[in-house]
Amino acid sequence: MRVKLIYSHDVVEKPILASIVLKTGVPINILEAKVNAQKGELIVSIPATGDKLREVLNLFREAGVQVQEFTETLRIDWDKCMACGACISPCPTGALKFKDDWSIEFDDEKCVACKVCVTACPVRAISLP
Ligand code: SF4
Ligand code: SF4
Repeated sequence: MRVKLIYSHDVVEKPILASIVLKTGVPINILEAKVNAQKGELIVSIPATGDKLREVLNLFREAGVQVQEFTETLRIDWDKCMACGACISPCPTGALKFKDDWSIEFDDEKCVACKVCVTACPVRAISLP
């Protein structure tokens, strides 16, 4: 599951994510990070479900981190896509790649909705609501 974690000034310098990884054993993957001395926003992928996922999310909330479900989903119009690959290398998270048959594969779990690929696509096949 992907979530956005919002750190306020009070908690931004605490090693909260690292301690939750150590405590729960869940290898949380940071997809995007915007952090400065005042606040931080991370988009992370949490490879857990059920009680384990709830435990991880509760630990973030108890530590003072705001947790938002990340629901933005990219759409590719496969009728327009000509598999040129122009969207692959600009993608910062590796969410787009070629399959063995040279068609395009999109991994929703890795996408952080940055829209870089939307601009990169020469035929406007990609959209984000
Ligand atoms: S919006 Fe596009 S470029 Fe950005 S992470 Fe998602 S697939 Fe990659
Ligand atoms: S840039 Fe557009 S046309 Fe090219 S592979 Fe990506 S989605 Fe398809």
